[in-house]
Amino acid sequence: MAVTVSKGAPIDLPDVVGDALDDAESELRDAGLDVKIAEPVFSDEDEDTVALQNPPEGSRVAEGDTITLTPSKGQEMIEVPHVEGDHLDDAKRKLEDAGFEVGVNRFFFGDTVFDQVGRRRRGAEGQQDHPAGALTRHRHAKAVPGPHEPVARGGGPPGPAGVTDASRPPAPERVAGWHPWCVSTPAIRTRNPIGGHVPVAGGLASVGLSYARDLGAESLQVFVANPRGWATPAGNPRQDEEFRAACAAESLPAYVHAPYLINFGSHTEATAEKSVESLRHSLRQGRPIGALGVVVHTGSDTGGRPRATALAQVRERLLPLLDELTHDDDPWLLLEPTAGQGASLCALAEDLGPYFDALDRHPRLGVCLDTCHAFAAGHDMAAAGGTKALLDELVAVVGQGRLKLIHANDSKDVVGAHKDRHANIGAGHIGADAFGELFTHPATAGVPLVIETPGGKEGHAADVARLKELRAG
Ligand SMILES: [Zn+2]
Repeated sequence: MAVTVSKGAPIDLPDVVGDALDDAESELRDAGLDVKIAEPVFSDEDEDTVALQNPPEGSRVAEGDTITLTPSKGQEMIEVPHVEGDHLDDAKRKLEDAGFEVGVNRFFFGDTVFDQVGRRRRGAEGQQDHPAGALTRHRHAKAVPGPHEPVARGGGPPGPAGVTDASRPPAPERVAGWHPWCVSTPAIRTRNPIGGHVPVAGGLASVGLSYARDLGAESLQVFVANPRGWATPAGNPRQDEEFRAACAAESLPAYVHAPYLINFGSHTEATAEKSVESLRHSLRQGRPIGALGVVVHTGSDTGGRPRATALAQVRERLLPLLDELTHDDDPWLLLEPTAGQGASLCALAEDLGPYFDALDRHPRLGVCLDTCHAFAAGHDMAAAGGTKALLDELVAVVGQGRLKLIHANDSKDVVGAHKDRHANIGAGHIGADAFGELFTHPATAGVPLVIETPGGKEGHAADVARLKELRAG
């Protein structure tokens, strides 16, 4: 027995939006339909897939009817205005006029735009930063403000010294898939605020701030949990608010150092899990106290596993924490490379490349450079041009605007010793000259320094004073 399907039999039109154009066309033709291809349009669908179909999915059509398929030419690319060095208000207006949503991403004090950072959407090819470029129709922009004009080194004329023009890649480049867009400004009362890690046992504001004042600190770092434990204590709302208000009023950039036990590369499941809880705690506590960044050590690849396995775990555990930083006043996460002991995942500047890649070069990801660690890892800052070479390489690896904090520590051990033993400024193997050079490189413009040196309050005050002398040239 033969069945003949008569011409004109009804067909339920399938959904071919998002399918490859060729596949959609053959599917419809196989069903006995005629296909017309319209002019391509911009859409959220990938290039050369179907952006629109007419009539739509589910329509009752008959064999021989014509279906119009509109191919996608991918997402529309639009130019991102260059706003570095602009007053924050002007930058916001420019970005909004170009069709971006503008968020304010507080990092430094100041009201000019320090940098604008974008990233490709997750999964896109290639992952480098561009200060200006083209965005897709997912338009988001972020800006970071602050109350003070930066003052150039040595009491020179005010201005975003070293942060505009020559130190920035100039030409806007057309790149697809940037999302979101960030802009930040320097916040500074000097080019490089200098301060120290301060004890807070007894009260974040009452103890920590008074210690900072005794040091003459212009920046400070605190723990919000026992650095050698896993406890995640609740903050003290009154002390937290007092601390935040005082730091804002005095333009004191504040940072949190996360506990030392954290290791996102650990092969021990319990350690990896506790690392998430501990870092999440430091990040969440950072916001009410007004911290600009939370410093975390990059950890080590324990258990003899391949490095790629450890980095995959870093991605799995750490990226969700970065994605939780959704408030404008959430802190940045600052990765601190270590001295290169054991199976360290990140010690040399070049090691930050794979680590940043593992975290999709997230827009809230920055670097805390510890000078003792870098020296111990093998960057010879004591050699002529050594400090410049380190900073040049750092920028080449992580991009502009990612260096957010410097731990200024001299080293008790020689270069490449892989030992993490801090010395007072000028009293170790790095030497005072190298610290002086930190204040002239474009990559450090607006970046605060925090000492973590021995010697108690007097030693700390002497180190802060020594660094201020070096800054004055
Ligand atoms: Zn450090």
